[in-house]
Formats: sequence, C-alpha cells, structure tokens
Amino acid sequence: MTEIQYSITFRTPVSIFNGLSIAGLVDRMVMRNKEGLPYIPGSSVKGRWRFFAERLLRTNGLPDGLKIHGKKDPQCKDVVSACTLCKLFGNSAIPATLFISQAELDDTKKPLYRALLKQN
Ligand SMILES: [Zn+2]
Repeated sequence: MTEIQYSITFRTPVSIFNGLSIAGLVDRMVMRNKEGLPYIPGSSVKGRWRFFAERLLRTNGLPDGLKIHGKKDPQCKDVVSACTLCKLFGNSAIPATLFISQAELDDTKKPLYRALLKQN
C-alpha cells in the first residue's frame, strides 16, 4: 500500500452537504470531528477527484496503458476488464483500490479554531 499525503487550498467558501439535513429546514451543515473542528469526508474528496479525473481523461487523451469506459456506459461492470477510472475509484459493481481519508485542518490552524470554538 502506498500512502500519499494531500492538502487542499480553497479559493472560495466551502460547504459540504452530508445528506442528513432536513429538507427545507437545514440545507447546509458543517461536518465536524469529535473535537468540533470542521473536516471534509474522504468520500466527498474522492467524488471530486473522480469527477476531475474523468474530465481530464475525456478531454486530454489517455496516456499509454490507461483506459476509460465509453460515455454511454455510466460505469464498468466487470473487474477484470474495468477501465482505469473504475478500478481506482470503484463503482457499485467494483470495489475501489483508492482509499481517501477525511481532510482535516492542518496542525498550524487547529489552535486558532479551537480558540474560536472555546469563545463560542
Ligand atoms: Zn469504467
């Protein structure tokens, strides 16, 4: 297994939806860890990476050895013949080989957020 550290820098405000909100009453919630610090679920990060990976693969051509399923096929169904995108990110028929943990604040910013939370 190869572990890769990643960081995300936002240029605009961010809102992550968790799907647990009550329709019409609460439409935006901040995902928080057990300390109350905001985080982004790994599944959300993975979904965005898949979206942009597919977009890049479809617009810039494929490097040798990589393949992607046809536009009319929403996903590959057989693990042996699956395209690179489906093998990496998985789908309802194929388990993913890429696992992404949640994105948390970097350690330099956590004290500031803890202080803000303490002040409510
Ligand atoms: Zn595929």
